[in-house]
Amino acid sequence: MRALAGRRDLACINTATLGHREPFERTVRRVAAAGFEYISPWRREIDEDHPEEAAKLIRAAGLKTGGYCRTEYFSADDVAGAKAAIDSNRRAVEVAAVLGAPFVVAVVGGLAPHSKDIEASRAQILEGLAALVPTLRSTGVGIALEPLHPFYAADRSLLNTVEQARQWCELLDPRNESIFGIAVDAYHVWWDPELEMSLQRAAGRVKALHVCDWLRETHEPLLDRGMMGDGVIDLERLRGMVERGGFTGPIEVEIFSKDNWWRRPPDEVLNVCRQRLDTVV
Ligand code: ZN
Repeated sequence: MRALAGRRDLACINTATLGHREPFERTVRRVAAAGFEYISPWRREIDEDHPEEAAKLIRAAGLKTGGYCRTEYFSADDVAGAKAAIDSNRRAVEVAAVLGAPFVVAVVGGLAPHSKDIEASRAQILEGLAALVPTLRSTGVGIALEPLHPFYAADRSLLNTVEQARQWCELLDPRNESIFGIAVDAYHVWWDPELEMSLQRAAGRVKALHVCDWLRETHEPLLDRGMMGDGVIDLERLRGMVERGGFTGPIEVEIFSKDNWWRRPPDEVLNVCRQRLDTVV
């Protein structure tokens, strides 16, 4: 297992951790100063008509782009909606290429808004992902499929375990040409009794490792994520499982915390993230 202490080159911050309170330019400067080499921005922060401007900011700060967040939901009530999602996600892939991001994180979508047909929605999602293949091939950017905790199955993601993500990778990218891989987010997968076995089977497929913590007395499961070390997840063990599968990328901190960390000064948040990467992840 890699030692993370002092490893700027293994430290990545997802900008959502800072609550999107400041202009991207300022965020980039803070992240670089706090000892991270990678930054993973969200689409809302990037002018997708002129992504080269953000790319320039990132490079000028001495940073690299981790991943690009994120796809729109592929599930939709009608053909026009599904097509619009694919078009938007194609654009995200093109922008990721300009930003130098190796992958776009895919949060695939839950049930289509007026549907109870879970199989049909899953099929629609897979079709949408497959439609991106020509753009993925031409840009060299991959998709990191992020399984979400099953709490989100209705409204955000019908992809819910690492094993399911591995199966989708097999379907979409059978020769493992790195077109499709997996984003393992500790918050979403820590509870899975088959996690270790799933990660063994998914060796060579993991593109990203997102860390935060699950607070034992959490208020709600979307915007009350904990700082690493403040909750119940054995992050070091989880990282070990991922790294034994051949993962060599940076560790990405991603904390959605409306009532706590998003209220604290950004530099404090970054410094605590950096310390906890060194000590508890
Ligand atoms: Zn994540």
